[in-house]
Amino acid sequence: MELNVRETVEKVKAKIAACRDENELARIKNDLLGKMGSLTQLLKLIPTLPVEQRSVVGKEINIAKSQVADWIEARRNELLYKKTEVSEDFDCTVPGLPPFKGGLHPITQMCYDLNDAFRSMGFEIYQEDDVTSELYGFDKLNFPPNHPARESMDTYWLEGHDKGTAAEKLCLRPHLTGGSVRYLQTHKPPFRFVYPGPVYRNETTDARHERAFFQYEALIVDKEFTFSAGKVMIKSILSKVFGRDVPVRMRAGFFPFVEPGFEIDMGCLVCGGKGCSVCKHVGWIEVMPGGTPHPNVLRAAGLDPDEYTGFYVNIGLDRLVMMRYGVNDVRLFHSADLRFLNQFC
Ligand SMILES: [Zn+2]
Repeated sequence: MELNVRETVEKVKAKIAACRDENELARIKNDLLGKMGSLTQLLKLIPTLPVEQRSVVGKEINIAKSQVADWIEARRNELLYKKTEVSEDFDCTVPGLPPFKGGLHPITQMCYDLNDAFRSMGFEIYQEDDVTSELYGFDKLNFPPNHPARESMDTYWLEGHDKGTAAEKLCLRPHLTGGSVRYLQTHKPPFRFVYPGPVYRNETTDARHERAFFQYEALIVDKEFTFSAGKVMIKSILSKVFGRDVPVRMRAGFFPFVEPGFEIDMGCLVCGGKGCSVCKHVGWIEVMPGGTPHPNVLRAAGLDPDEYTGFYVNIGLDRLVMMRYGVNDVRLFHSADLRFLNQFC
């Protein structure tokens, strides 16, 4: 019996020393100290021994158990320590791989910058669905029935657009202004809000035109608001977004939903106003139409045009981003070409 205990313990000591991982160690522990383990089995044999040997052997087995438990613990700590050691193959002088870093699309970045600038002036950010109806896309915006923009060559009409009422004739929104009418109908003036989003037109694409592009509409409705205040506001917003003084000019323009209407041009930032290919050598870039909401539009929204006036602009986001980075082809923004887009991350 004595020999068996010593023999078992010696065998185990070598096994534990050769152990290479935690699982192997757990297996050895179970083989020895588990319910069917060899040391546990030896303990069960004690009652079969002569009385005078029982306590001696029992003591010996208990000492062996405690020894084995210590060895296992020591080996476990050793393995843990080794685990943190750096492999011999590791060369700390080799440059690491840069982690993949995503980024926002340049149009989204511009949209967020404008949101920040307008929010600092107390504007609310408004969002709406991309699908609108003939009622909100045209009728309530004072578009005459024969206006060319109503034709399918400009607007993406959805299935079933040829029957039903104007509210049932659905299309992808060709501009944001219809959504603004819905805002006017559901809010009580005075208010100021901006409304960013994509719009869709069935156009032939070229360097300055795309089938889908982003607009950024801003509208103030109040009992009094002057053009000069609007011009200062636009100049402040553009200067904030571009981080430098941006010259701004307004000139008369016609749009069915405003009266009077105007075009806002900003000084070309590529050439500083001297003239270049981006600004077609005039030193100015047309960035947004605007004006006072047409009395018919205010009426369509349930407001009295004798009581309320306002200020409206619709910023072409794509064109603004082209100015910011000197991009000469709007189609690049929607190309999903990562070689182009990664430059803005
Ligand atoms: Zn220029």
